[in-house]
Amino acid sequence: MKDTIYTIPLTDAFKAEDECPFCFIKRKLEQDAISFILGSAYMEEDIREVTDQIGFCAEHYKKMYDYGNRLGLALMLHTHYTKLQQELCQKLEHFCPETQGLMTKLKKLTGTAAPSSNPMSSWIKEKHEACYICDAMDKNFSRYMDTFFYLMSHNDDFKPLFLNCKGFCLPHFGEVLSLSENKLSDKQKETFYPILFDKMQSHFKRLDEDIAWFIDKYDYKNTHADWKTSKDAIPRGIQKLAGIYVQDTSFKEK
Ligand SMILES: [Zn+2]
Ligand SMILES: [Zn+2]
Repeated sequence: MKDTIYTIPLTDAFKAEDECPFCFIKRKLEQDAISFILGSAYMEEDIREVTDQIGFCAEHYKKMYDYGNRLGLALMLHTHYTKLQQELCQKLEHFCPETQGLMTKLKKLTGTAAPSSNPMSSWIKEKHEACYICDAMDKNFSRYMDTFFYLMSHNDDFKPLFLNCKGFCLPHFGEVLSLSENKLSDKQKETFYPILFDKMQSHFKRLDEDIAWFIDKYDYKNTHADWKTSKDAIPRGIQKLAGIYVQDTSFKEK
């Protein structure tokens, strides 16, 4: 594996001084996927076949609505509806209610019956969760994770970027940890884990201190004191915990 198309964006993300380089990558992947699908990709037959079949999740319907190109969105919705109605029609034809045995009736009476999971509700759940944009992001994101571990082991210019970064958000810390088990040799783990754990602890502490100073600034005695690095402590503090950018405005078509 040589340098790939993922190397430069990943290096840029580590240079961005973000609270988490992987959040930075994920936001870029999401914006790329939204502008790709609503740019002109929705007019391509093979891509449209996929969006007709799987549609989008609730979060990405909202983000596509905010982005713009309402005609493009309407065209995708229209053919997705057509496909969905065909499938729904088939499912309803084959739908048969569950028959209730004595035990089920008893459980219902005592209020201990588990919610039923017939094929129809499983299909609806599957439809609700499927998303073209989430799939595209997940696929590319795992390539970035692979590239991270590759560069860590093979590229001496990348290592200082990792050493100087602010660590990761909690969800991406979890992902890095679970992947590192397979991606790194036992010898590599001996050096990687202590650096990673130390980094996570020191940067959680730094954020906690930023938040504490943000609170102290509300004390009248500190009205004229410097904000130091606390002005945006809340959005950065939330990102470190949840991997989201609460301060971002809607991503819109240019
Ligand atoms: Zn993150
Ligand atoms: Zn989605």
